[in-house]
Amino acid sequence: MRKPMIAGNWKLHKTCSEALELVNELKNGVIDIRDVEIVVAPVYTTLSTVSAAIEGTNITLAAQNCYPEATGAFTGEVSPAMLADVGCRYVIIGHSERRQLLGESDEFINCKAHALAEADMGIILCIGETLEEREADQMLDILRRQVRLGLKGLDEAAMASLVIAYEPVWAIGTGKTATDEQAQEAHAFIRALIKEHYNQEIAAQTRILYGGSVKPGNVDALMTQPDVDGALVGGASLKAADFARIVAFEKQ
Ligand code: PEP
Repeated sequence: MRKPMIAGNWKLHKTCSEALELVNELKNGVIDIRDVEIVVAPVYTTLSTVSAAIEGTNITLAAQNCYPEATGAFTGEVSPAMLADVGCRYVIIGHSERRQLLGESDEFINCKAHALAEADMGIILCIGETLEEREADQMLDILRRQVRLGLKGLDEAAMASLVIAYEPVWAIGTGKTATDEQAQEAHAFIRALIKEHYNQEIAAQTRILYGGSVKPGNVDALMTQPDVDGALVGGASLKAADFARIVAFEKQ
């Protein structure tokens, strides 16, 4: 049985005081929820503040990125162990904004996955096709490549705390959501790929989140799809009431 996960990616938003205000409001909004893993991924500079604010609650902390080395001459970077030290349980890797804006390759993302596994941290691996790739009928090839290279060399133990987020790039921050059927088709394909790379048990246990303009108004239908195990939410996670409503989704 896969426990649903709803994760909020706050991207480059919120100062410490704003982050505190948001998370305090969210805490109250989700106080009764036990059957969903609720995750927030704030900006690095606010992690300690948010970490202290969610101690003892049902909200888990994630970081939006990491560097695949423990320590060293890597100016501006932060290691998995440092993120664990401030209370992060998960790290998002492979987000399309980092792939596109910062040129991150599947190989580099895979290095991060290994560093996170070594540090015993959960991984949220983002994958997804661009509009051009979808229109050129390359979606399945892109997903196949991103799964193969992103998971390369990860053992079964690492897979136990790995979550995949399918985020069609054309749906991120655009207000365009994949239809429920498009999401289900991609998720079922990704699960089949995991079975191919590992086995049926791992495929059945791996959570696959949908990301791309998830809102209170479309989450219920998305979560009704059998292979959609949660959501990675950008814009709507910046409003406590909206995010709380997404967390409290109702299958149709
Ligand atoms: C995201 O950043 O991962 C995302 C899905 O953003 P949005 O919900 O705003 O489309």
